[in-house]
Amino acid sequence: MGFNIYYYESKIECCCCKKKFTTYKVRPNRYKVVDQDTDFMPIYEGLNPILYEVSVCPHCGYAYHKSMTRTFGPFMQLIKEIYIKELQKPMNICEVRSLEDAIASFKLAYLVSRASMEEPLIMANFAIKIAWLYRLKKDSQSEMRYLQAAREFYSKSFASNKEGEEKLQYLYAELSLRIGDIEEAKKGFSQLISGRDVSAKYQKIARNRWEDYKYNNAIDHSKLILRAKGEIEDV
Ligand SMILES: [Zn+2]
Repeated sequence: MGFNIYYYESKIECCCCKKKFTTYKVRPNRYKVVDQDTDFMPIYEGLNPILYEVSVCPHCGYAYHKSMTRTFGPFMQLIKEIYIKELQKPMNICEVRSLEDAIASFKLAYLVSRASMEEPLIMANFAIKIAWLYRLKKDSQSEMRYLQAAREFYSKSFASNKEGEEKLQYLYAELSLRIGDIEEAKKGFSQLISGRDVSAKYQKIARNRWEDYKYNNAIDHSKLILRAKGEIEDV
């Protein structure tokens, strides 16, 4: 193909079937992080590189993400027995992807990782990214399902340092809030806000988020009361 200004072709040798293929990746100058959501979903200007993070082999269907660690030897044997065998026709999603394609690619990565029994943190990060893609697709029911799965995996995860642990604690509280488990959210945020060993950074992030939630909730609540009294119109 000719030169594409948005994507470059990454050359991959499949670590499962050993065949070669190329798959699109977003050129680094075609996106910029301009903001992030409260669960750390990056908000991009331009293209969204997350859609291209998982490489899916069009020959055998193996899905690879750079965070995976069990991609060799006995693990690959498990992947072949549990995942590849069950797979129908491998998808070809090596060029421009829709949100649907990207969701499918992460679901395949999730299945591969489940077969090779990757650490919960890796599973959690796949689940949350699937939830983000559903958020972009405005499918909130599916988003909630994957946020819930992500929360369960994060609750079983361990980080390698203190900041990582605090991030896990924050995400657990944040995802609890998003799925409507307010009790768990409150418990999680207050542990971060008042914990003596918690870094200033996470104390602040947690305090801002929880106060923001309470403030918005109070506004919603007073609107409900006024609406019930007939003092404001339904919108
Ligand atoms: Zn392959």
